[in-house]
Amino acid sequence: MIEMLGPDARFARRALTGEHGVSLPAFVDHHVHLHLIDEHALPAGGIAAVLDLGGDPTALARRSRETMPHAAYAGAFLTAPGGYPSGKSWAPAATVREVSSTSRHPGVPGGAATAVDEQVSCAASVIKVALHAGAPGVLDLPTLEAIVASARERGLPVVAHVEGEGMTRRALDAGVDALAHTPFSEWVDGASIARAVALGQRWISTLAIHDGVERERAMLNLETFARAGGHVLYGTDLGNGERPAGIDVAELEALHAAGVRGPSLIAALTAAWPGGVATRGVATFIPGPAPSSDDGIPAWLAGATVTPIEELVHDDH
Ligand SMILES: [Zn+2]
Repeated sequence: MIEMLGPDARFARRALTGEHGVSLPAFVDHHVHLHLIDEHALPAGGIAAVLDLGGDPTALARRSRETMPHAAYAGAFLTAPGGYPSGKSWAPAATVREVSSTSRHPGVPGGAATAVDEQVSCAASVIKVALHAGAPGVLDLPTLEAIVASARERGLPVVAHVEGEGMTRRALDAGVDALAHTPFSEWVDGASIARAVALGQRWISTLAIHDGVERERAMLNLETFARAGGHVLYGTDLGNGERPAGIDVAELEALHAAGVRGPSLIAALTAAWPGGVATRGVATFIPGPAPSSDDGIPAWLAGATVTPIEELVHDDH
């Protein structure tokens, strides 16, 4: 039943030990914060590459390209003056840039283009914006549009943290490319989900960080989005609370329960998005037999390890 693992799954064995198993493309966690975690534990836990969605751009730029996990990153959070996450203990000043003007001219203090350019100069692969209605400040639509336009000019997609009434809509109105979390603070209506799908918007899952009604909303929003053809990416917000370093089976179980199953679940884990996410030279190897039904896939994925491609021999049967 290897078909239910998607088109790239193959029976394989380790060249040195002869151990049999299944190989898949390398896995990506599309939402982490490297400054808050022990990243070295990730490859042993099956994660080869990460997307950092909020950190110190200078520190991230100094990171070696050879380090595992491979990292693509946003650099700093772009937000309104006083906006989320300014002042949070986990978001030191180096990780936040306040944007106070719609200016798309380079070098204007507080300007949209200035903030985008700084992240570009630090080799960012995406631009992260925070839209939190409950904070003292929140980016208005014209400023958000200026950030999106500046990012587009420089070839980068924009990822938004949306939280609070109306914030998903604002991200849609500005044409934001991806949401850092499945919307959890509001039910997203069918028309808005249709707009998100038509826009080609990607939703990074982060279902397992919630409980109670926020989890219910996120699960149903994601299920509706996925059923409508929306692109779902696996992401855990690693660094936010206590999550396992590596594959998070609770996140996979939640995705499966929301209808992101089988080949779709594998696609969410292996999507090379954004462009800067590099997984060259490594694959995923899971020892033992393939699961016998798609219900068994999340727990089976707990056995994933990152393995150099040259250590794997494919068995054609
Ligand atoms: Zn986060």
